[in-house]
Amino acid sequence: MSSPRPRRKLAVLACMDARLDPYALLGLLEGDAHVIRNAGGVVTDDALRSLSASQRLLGTEEIVLVMHRGCGLEGADDEEFAESLIEDGCPHPAWRLGGFEDLEQTLREGLERLRSSPELISRDKVRGLIYDPDTEELEEFGP
Ligand code: ZN
Repeated sequence: MSSPRPRRKLAVLACMDARLDPYALLGLLEGDAHVIRNAGGVVTDDALRSLSASQRLLGTEEIVLVMHRGCGLEGADDEEFAESLIEDGCPHPAWRLGGFEDLEQTLREGLERLRSSPELISRDKVRGLIYDPDTEELEEFGP
C-alpha cells in the first residue's frame, strides 16, 4: 500500500489561479507533496490548519509558498467584499477575503507568519516564489 506521507516531505501553499499549475511549475508528481490552494495563496488560519496537519501528522518538513502576478485578489477590498455579501443576505463573514495591494509585501508577511507559527514544527525551510502567468517565469523570492 502506498504511504500518505509525501515523498519529498514538501507542502506547497499556492493561489488557486487557473493559470498556475503547482505540479508542473515545481516538477512534482502525484505523491510528492501536499498542495494546498486558496484564493491568493494567503496564509490563513485554515491554510495553517492544513500545513500543521501536513507536518505534524504526515511528516513534511519544507513549505513553498507560491503567489503570482496579476492575482485576482490584488486590489480587492476586504470591506467592500464583506458588504456585498451582507447586501445579499449573508451574515458578516468570520473570514476576510485577503485582498492586497502589494504582492511582494503580502508574500513577505505570509512567509513571516509561517516562520513564526508554533503550529508548525519545521520552520527553517520556508521559501517564497512568485509566478508570472504572462511570461510563465517562476522567480525565487528572497528572505
Ligand atoms: Zn491569484
